[in-house]
Amino acid sequence: MSIQTPITEDTIRPHDIFEEYLRLATLDIETYFRGVDMVYIDCPVCKTPGKEVFTKSGFIYEECNHCKSLYVNPRPCTEAFDKYYTDSPSTKFWATTFYKITESARRETLWKPKANLVKLLIERYQSGSESINIIDIGGGYGVFDEVINAVMDATCLIIEPSVHLAEICRNKGFKTIEKFMEDVDRNEIPEGNNCFVSFELFEHLHDPGQFLQTVYNVMRQGDLFIFTTLSGMGIDIQILRENSRSVSPPHHLNFMNPRSLATLLRNVGFEVLEANTPGKLDMDILFKNKDIIQDNFWRNYLDYSTEHERNAMQDFIAANGLSSHMMVTCRKTAKN
Ligand SMILES: [Zn+2]
Repeated sequence: MSIQTPITEDTIRPHDIFEEYLRLATLDIETYFRGVDMVYIDCPVCKTPGKEVFTKSGFIYEECNHCKSLYVNPRPCTEAFDKYYTDSPSTKFWATTFYKITESARRETLWKPKANLVKLLIERYQSGSESINIIDIGGGYGVFDEVINAVMDATCLIIEPSVHLAEICRNKGFKTIEKFMEDVDRNEIPEGNNCFVSFELFEHLHDPGQFLQTVYNVMRQGDLFIFTTLSGMGIDIQILRENSRSVSPPHHLNFMNPRSLATLLRNVGFEVLEANTPGKLDMDILFKNKDIIQDNFWRNYLDYSTEHERNAMQDFIAANGLSSHMMVTCRKTAKN
């Protein structure tokens, strides 16, 4: 039996490197988003007008009274994001320095557990006996695909628009479509048992409903879609609000929650199989930030509790849909 180092925030986001990333991101906000056209939206799930709950770096976060989704409104126009994600210093730092330094820790602490979860979900919901095709939307470095290949019989297809990242995936031997998801043709998707996946992408999307429709349109009947994103009902985000490092505008635009995201998926036509929060970091993040927490209960609890008690609390939070790390499994059931 191997002894595993417990996962903490520092394992995947080393403090100094993450601070440098945040410094560059702050500079980029000025360069890429100052003075651009802004788009006003209602709640991306239920179209109810939201109410302002806090601001950060000049961006307003609104909460929907009805479904509790948390989202940036107004948000910069899509052209500003295209430029930012193509050539900004902070995205380059993330893709090169930050990622390289943390890749091996991330592989162990994030990707391996994720691959095992995806394997379980596929076994639970994909009845066919033939091997599975994984279609990884925004596959980045293809690490998930390497890891899932090690735990199950899967053929991976990566959709990755960045020239640099797509080349890395190809060099690892993966078939790679170098396109944005909205430009992918259904004929490029293999026949057979398909499971689409996307990790930590949804919170970045300018129009989440449109993205889900795009994915739905290229899927075939019976295909699965499993993805992860941030939940705005997650305890660390609810307590820390603008002080949460996950609340990082304009990168993170949408924080839905298990219920609101299920609603949005059903509106598109998906059958929602599971919407859970298997997160592990909330209590660690709160513990490290206990000195800035205003709420009396949580500030005192974090001071008073033992590590063992906080771990038990984390398990409770994850089991009850209250972690900020969310995982959703849905299926296309309609014929078309
Ligand atoms: Zn809403």
